[in-house]
Formats: sequence, C-alpha cells, structure tokens
Amino acid sequence: MVRWFDASQPQYGAEALIVTDPRTGEEINAGINIDSVMGLQGRTYRYVIAPARNLPDSEALEQEYVKQSLYAVTLHESGHDLGLQHNFIGSMAYSAKQVQDRTFTSKYGIVSSVMEYTPVNLWPRGTPNGDYNQMVLGPYDYYAVKWGYEYVPGATTPEAEKPALNALASRWSDPMYRFASDEDTDFETGHAIDPRVQTDDLTDNPLAWERTTLAMLHSIMNGVANRFPKNGEPYEEARRAFERPLALYVRTSVMPAHVIGGEYLSRAAAGDPHSKPPLQPVSRADEYAAWQLLQTWLFSDAAWRFAPAVLDRLAYSEVSWLGTNGTWIYNPGDRHDVPIVEIASRTQERVMDELFAPLTLTRIDDLSTKYAAGSTMTLSDLFDWTRNGMYGDLASGAVAKAGVVRRNAQMHFAKRLAQLWVSPSDGTPTDAQSLARLQLEMLAHDCALGLLHSLDEQTRAHLEALQAVAKQALEARATIAR
Ligand SMILES: [Zn+2]
Repeated sequence: MVRWFDASQPQYGAEALIVTDPRTGEEINAGINIDSVMGLQGRTYRYVIAPARNLPDSEALEQEYVKQSLYAVTLHESGHDLGLQHNFIGSMAYSAKQVQDRTFTSKYGIVSSVMEYTPVNLWPRGTPNGDYNQMVLGPYDYYAVKWGYEYVPGATTPEAEKPALNALASRWSDPMYRFASDEDTDFETGHAIDPRVQTDDLTDNPLAWERTTLAMLHSIMNGVANRFPKNGEPYEEARRAFERPLALYVRTSVMPAHVIGGEYLSRAAAGDPHSKPPLQPVSRADEYAAWQLLQTWLFSDAAWRFAPAVLDRLAYSEVSWLGTNGTWIYNPGDRHDVPIVEIASRTQERVMDELFAPLTLTRIDDLSTKYAAGSTMTLSDLFDWTRNGMYGDLASGAVAKAGVVRRNAQMHFAKRLAQLWVSPSDGTPTDAQSLARLQLEMLAHDCALGLLHSLDEQTRAHLEALQAVAKQALEARATIAR
C-alpha cells in the first residue's frame, strides 16, 4: 500500500514501512508512506529548472515535475520494501554524456540504482538534458533483486544456492553492480574515505559535474531579479527563488573536500573478476583539482558575491504562516535579509573541520606508508594548498580588494592554525602540529610584508590582527614548552 498523508508537522518526505518476522527475517508486510510535503517539489521546477533552462513559468510543467519526483521516490521506497539498502556509489555508473541523453536515461536511468540519493539531473541551457529524475530501475536494481529473489534451478538447500549467489556477488568491480551504503558516507568525522560514495551528485566525473553545477546555480541566484517576483507578488517569492538554489549550492560546494586525502575502497573479495586490493589511492592530481574547486567555489570572495540588485530584494513577508518545518511563524529570524556572509562562513568552517579533523590529518599523514612518494598528497600539500588559497593575497597587499567573506575566512584559518599548535585536539598527529607552527611563522611574515603597503584602515586592522594571532600562538607555545 502506498499511503499519502498530510502531517501537521512533516518529519520526512517518504519512508518504507516494513514488518519482518523476528524469527526468520521474512517480510510479512510492506508499504510506503509519502508525506504531502513532497507536493512542494514543484518549486524545484519553478526556482531551479525553469531559470536554468530558460523554460516558461507553467503550472502544468510544475505538476508534471511533481508527478515525476513522486514516481522516483516511490521506486526508491519500493526498493527498501524489497530489502534493498541505499546505494550511494550508483552515480558513478554513467557518464555526463549518457545522463544528458534522454533516450539513454529513459531506458537506464540517471544512476545505476533507484537506491541512490539523486539530485535533479540538470544541465546548463544550450546543452542536452536527460530525465530530471530516476524514472526507471537501474541495472543494479535488477541485479540485486535477482540475487535476493531469483529461483536457483536445482538447488534444494540454501547451501546449494551459494555458488550461483557468490558468482553474482563477485561482480562488484563492474561499475553497474557496485554497492556502497550509508556507513561509507560519514565524511564529517574523517571516517569515510571513498569520494565516489557521495549522495546527491551525478556522473563518473563528480568534480566536473560539481564545477558545472556550481556555476549554473551561481548564475541562477545572480539572475533571480530577472524572474522574481512578478508584479503583485510579495518579495518573499524572490527569497524562495534564491534560497532553493542556494541550498543546492551549499550542498554541492562541500563535495570536493571528500576527494582530499581520499582512498578508493572496494568490497570485492579476493579473486573476483577485475578486482584490486581493497584500498587504492586517489591521485595527487585529483586531490589538487578538488582543492582548486574548493578554492574557487567555496573559499573565494567571488563564490559568495551576488548582484546587489538581487540581495536587496530577499526579504520575507511580514505575515504569520505555517513554516515548512511545521513551526508556527511569526517567530522571525534576527535578520530581514539572507545572511550570505554567515552562510559562507558556516559552510567554509564545515569543510575546514572535516579537512583538519584529527582522523583526516592522520590518514593523510599515513598515506606515505602505503603509496609511492608523489603519487598521492601529503600533509605539507594540505597546509601549502590551504595557505596559497587563504593567504596568497596578504604579502602583496591585494587583500585590500577582498571583501568581508575573505577576511573572515583568513581569520578563521589563522585561529585554526593557532589551535593546532597551542591546543591541538586529541589525536592530532605531531606532523600536523609542526606544519601549523611553520604556517604561523609564514603568516606573521606575510602580514609584515603586506603592512608595508598603503592600506585602508579595515585592511590594516585585519592584517595586524592576523599577525597578532600568529605571534601570540607562537609565543604561547614557547612558554608552555619551557
Ligand atoms: Zn531510502
């Protein structure tokens, strides 16, 4: 049974309901709940797809999009009902060219499995675009159900089924049949290591997809004033039209961090066709490409700069309404605008927390024990890339042209270096502590050079503050060491 319901306080979009016999694990009932909030999916058409593809505003096209997303979510929950877990490596099965081809996606989908979490499959105007959603079962789904349910001819005991089942299970190294689930996506603590196991991305070249997607979302946000609001509509319509792509932008901008210090992890057993040892390095070139993406789309000033003529219209309506989280508003936020600077800082810090987590630092430090020198990154790379990205404009005084997002990022990173040196979290490798100390020396030096230029008061104050943080940290540690 698929049950459609309208909760006063929506908790989720949809879920599978499964009752199993605790003695055998056999499913004795299965169903799906879909909350009516799923009906709001039409906003993805209105605020993201239509502006991106230059399509008309259309109630009918919105409805059509809602139907498609309900269909896709029902496929996903049906998979859970059949006992399937999430498969977050499913997006790696297809190329960009394939998912941009409607003929391909209508037959094979946009990922290998309905058990992926897929973003809207959206490409810039002027380029081809396949189905927006996963509308069919993928090759992995047929394969997994075959393994779980197909009758094995001649087998009279579970034991006798094993050879046939193991032959199927040995196909992990084929991208169509790969599987990796929730436990491999815990990137925030540094535990997850395989960047291919990423929710909400697409294609077998995730970095290229992220670059295209971020550029497209940025231009949608910058163009909000061209479409929203219509005459007679409240300006809140423009705010919604901005916040929807912004949420996708934030989600996508952190993804490249998962490549840095990564390793490919295989579930193949020894001797499986085309299998390699379970741990394989991510190349240094890919790690550097990922860093550059972070630099451009997350840590730069330009990443968070939008047309003032857009930002000045992003107010909310001064009326009470039932918020999407089920909370009764009017409990307005502190601010009337969209706090871009704060959102930028929060997102940047999230990635820095991940990259400089003790577990991540230790993993990067240990890569040299498994892989040839130069084939993968080092801790020095991490600190040097970050320094070039964060502080490359200090010594020349060019930082004076930067905005508040940039100054905040520079100060946050200086404090992080100080913390790594003065009071490192438990488990921080000593190599990282030494590198942080070296970076503080260089930071103090760069600030001294920058201060030789003629600077406005804010920039001077900023450089002196950065220099003070660096010097205090270096002195504090010297005292402790005695
Ligand atoms: Zn699910």
